[in-house]
Amino acid sequence: MTDASKKSIGFISLGCPKALVDSERILTQLKIDGYDIVPTFEGADVVVVNTCGFIDSAKQESLDTIGEAISSNGRVIVTGCMGKGSDAQSIMQQHPKVLSVTGPAAYEEVVSAVHTFLPHTPAHDPFADLVPPQGIKLTPRHYAYLKISEGCNHRCSFCIIPDMRGDLVSRPIGDVMEEAERLVRAGVRELLVISQDTSAYGVDTKYRTGFWNGRPLKTCMQTLCEALGEFGIWVRLHYVYPYPHVDKIIPLMAEGKILPYLDVPFQHGSPAILKRMKRPAAAEKSLERIKVWRDICPDITLRSTFIVGFPGETEDDFDVLLDFIREAQLDRVGCFQYSPVKGARANDLPNHVSDDLKQERWERFMTLQQAISAAKLQTKIGKTIETLIDEVNADGAIGRSSADAPEIDGRVFLEGATGLNPGDFVEGEVTAADDYDLWVG
Ligand code: SF4
Repeated sequence: MTDASKKSIGFISLGCPKALVDSERILTQLKIDGYDIVPTFEGADVVVVNTCGFIDSAKQESLDTIGEAISSNGRVIVTGCMGKGSDAQSIMQQHPKVLSVTGPAAYEEVVSAVHTFLPHTPAHDPFADLVPPQGIKLTPRHYAYLKISEGCNHRCSFCIIPDMRGDLVSRPIGDVMEEAERLVRAGVRELLVISQDTSAYGVDTKYRTGFWNGRPLKTCMQTLCEALGEFGIWVRLHYVYPYPHVDKIIPLMAEGKILPYLDVPFQHGSPAILKRMKRPAAAEKSLERIKVWRDICPDITLRSTFIVGFPGETEDDFDVLLDFIREAQLDRVGCFQYSPVKGARANDLPNHVSDDLKQERWERFMTLQQAISAAKLQTKIGKTIETLIDEVNADGAIGRSSADAPEIDGRVFLEGATGLNPGDFVEGEVTAADDYDLWVG
């Protein structure tokens, strides 16, 4: 419900979960400042577009969305990953009517731009203006992303995120825990820990000791996982690199403190390509790490992403990659064809792979990995699993198991289970599986 006396903002959030968390923070502040948030361009006094600049297709989607907002509304403020450097210039060149452009995580600047172009002094109404203690969330009520740091200390040659977001800055552990506590109190049943490099949490602070409820906590991934594990909800880790210290987290998974799920973006299996990619932990023996993790926690779900067709990738490199995924037996895998990003150092590497060859390698990779993933899901038939319900419709309920992150992994279907609610946990036996999803009876 909107209040006619209030100024309203139309908000479009593009890109990854990290950008989504930025959007939530900006929206929370705008709501605190008394603005209404509306879901359309037309009814808004101003439109804010939070852009994604990760790859060229994401940039194009951002530019198209800005164009659409200009033609439907006319008053547009742009922020996010495209709001820096030459991308910001191309926004102004293509859309000179844009009111203001700010970069990623520029919360104060974008809020101040809104105040400049849409001045607003709301009459204080202590009831109508209440913002929930957990802030504005763009995810369903029962799960939330918990961003633990900004930026990244690595310089992968295909990536421009450090140029856009700067070096790693870890949030104080006390702030992270307070936010987690507020979310749990508000009904969140699953926290998804995100950052650019979760395993590096605290490196920039030299693992400084912080405080939560008067309790000293070291700013590091292990302490954070132990503390989050005390809430008794699902805690899922994303963007973890295979460093040896990650081994210490796995016992927490085996003990049920955090979910037995690790999202590790390996990106390739060939040491030569990983070196050219300048990947973190490229020198670590990933297959050995995986073996250690499975020895400690046999039920662990491993998700990863890979790039095929990186400049200089030979048929031998590609075969090494296929051998890697054959041996790693990963549960969930995403695969992308290399695409150059403006400003990335990999653009200058020799021997770019042709589009046809990239497509052919991508198909070979996917055929192999699909068979692995499907075979792994078949082994779940007959087992009892816990499912977190995401939605309920006339046919039954749809949820996720511990092996499934929202949006990117599979789903669990409970046919006929119409008496459940989103956020419920239910146990049941797996009766069927296909390439990605499970059915529970
Ligand atoms: S780890 Fe590499 S790919 Fe990830 S944000 Fe940092 S530089 Fe980019």
